[in-house]
Amino acid sequence: MAEKLYHEITPEGFGIAIENDEDLFSDKSPYQTVDVFHSRAFGNVLTLDGLMMVTERDEFFYHEMIVHIPMLTHKNPENILVIGGGDGGTVRELLKYNSVKHIDMVEIDGMVIEASKKFFPTVACGLNDERVSVLVQDAVDFIKDKENVYDVVLIDSTDPIGPGEGLFNEGFYNNVKRALKKGGIVVPQTEGPFAQSENMRKTYKLLRKVFKNVAPYCGPMPTYPGGYWSWGFCSDEVEIPLDSSRIDKVRANEIAKTCKIYNIALHGAVFCVPNFVLELAKG
Ligand code: SAM
Repeated sequence: MAEKLYHEITPEGFGIAIENDEDLFSDKSPYQTVDVFHSRAFGNVLTLDGLMMVTERDEFFYHEMIVHIPMLTHKNPENILVIGGGDGGTVRELLKYNSVKHIDMVEIDGMVIEASKKFFPTVACGLNDERVSVLVQDAVDFIKDKENVYDVVLIDSTDPIGPGEGLFNEGFYNNVKRALKKGGIVVPQTEGPFAQSENMRKTYKLLRKVFKNVAPYCGPMPTYPGGYWSWGFCSDEVEIPLDSSRIDKVRANEIAKTCKIYNIALHGAVFCVPNFVLELAKG
């Protein structure tokens, strides 16, 4: 057993623990404490203010889900905005699409980006791609003057606390909506249905005030509280893809070949969520 044990206990009073074999990095940015340690169970692990963010071993559960459901639903996603996402995992998955001409990634904390490049090279590998602009600034400010720019916006944020708080409010969602091109899709991470149910309920209440079509989709996420996570499919013009009938099977199969989670059958099933999740997503 390793000397040290990392643990995260949620406000609900339960959480996870991972043996910490070696501390690799720890520093305070103007926004949060950034820590990286190595574990035999999950490889390198990134935490922000002590909260689990990314592990080498299970990050694909989250990054494939936040990217491939909206990207394979949109007919021709070219210009993409990633809000947060400083580890680079979301950008890595987006770069699999030949249709993508440009990605803006707006991450408030440059320390997260640098730590991810150094300790999570397989996650941050796309951040130097010529199609990517990494903008180190508060996305709440960045989005204020954007209009009719993006086909897909992915809100890959921390929880609604600290710098992330401004990414979970009606004014911000309205600014994101204005930044969308016609037929655009927005997907925020919408917290853990089991471990952060009130966060999720509040988020959907706000999303439903701003977007016409809103639906949660869920999937496993081993190291996040409760091991079960949600993302919110939001659009005014695009219907909720409640099955895989309307996706481009050729494109989807090409992507699925590069994925550990995503496949066409799963795409059709992810919106089949438990009753308690449907209840929370009523807002
Ligand atoms: N992608 C990871 C995962 O697997 O879920 C975790 C999410 S990513 C590390 C969350 C990022 O959102 C953090 O790096 C944090 O600095 C960033 N963030 C929080 N508030 C922000 C804001 N207002 N503007 C831009 N980025 C923000």
